[in-house]
Amino acid sequence: CGIVGYNGKNQAAEILLKGLEKLEYRGYDSSGIAFQTSKGVQMFKEKGRIADLRDAVTEEIDAHVGIGHTRWATHGVPDQKNSHPHKSASGRFTLVHNGVIENYEKLTREYLQDVSFVSETDTEVIVQLIEYFANTGLTTDEAFRKALSLLHGSYAIAMLDEQDPDTIFVAKNRSPLLVGVSEEANVVASDAMAMLQVTNQFIELHDGEIVLLGKDGIVIETLAGDKIERAPYTAELDM
Ligand code: GLU
Repeated sequence: CGIVGYNGKNQAAEILLKGLEKLEYRGYDSSGIAFQTSKGVQMFKEKGRIADLRDAVTEEIDAHVGIGHTRWATHGVPDQKNSHPHKSASGRFTLVHNGVIENYEKLTREYLQDVSFVSETDTEVIVQLIEYFANTGLTTDEAFRKALSLLHGSYAIAMLDEQDPDTIFVAKNRSPLLVGVSEEANVVASDAMAMLQVTNQFIELHDGEIVLLGKDGIVIETLAGDKIERAPYTAELDM
């Protein structure tokens, strides 16, 4: 299972599909991809191989921002509706997740009784919870940190917000995730291998950190909102 995200000057679709192919060795049962386009967030997901996902992306996608996911199902059978990305009820937020949320049933009871869920995954609770807090008037950054602070479990997350199409919201706790930086694009990936096609400059993330990943720069924060400075390292890997 793995995550990729791209925010930069080039077309995102082929870079994300290639990135997912590089993550195939990690094992998965389904995959999906979502893009910020002029028509809003467009999403494709399929059970099976990345080749099946490629086939599902039939149209030319004009997008410079996107996220992708390979799933190893823990909650909910491997099928299309349980594949990531998952959307919030209004469609505003689109999220991919690797890991397991242990208290998803409790969070559903406490905050999300009125939400009708589309999937059987623990993941959908995360994106619905972020929308729940955004609807109370918080900014996306605030709602993201508030929701994450309530989660028990492991996660690597990348999220799109239709109302902030220039940013990918990223978070990590006990699941692998790295940020890659360059002049041309900033990226996120479970494994540097997936994004060597874009850059060999990576920044490691620590548990409990989030990243606001823009095209021209990134901001790393703690869940409390404190900013963190961390220099990139050069990944010495062959593609
Ligand atoms: N727990 C989530 C699910 O079952 C994520 C699984 C994964 O890490 O791919 O959908």
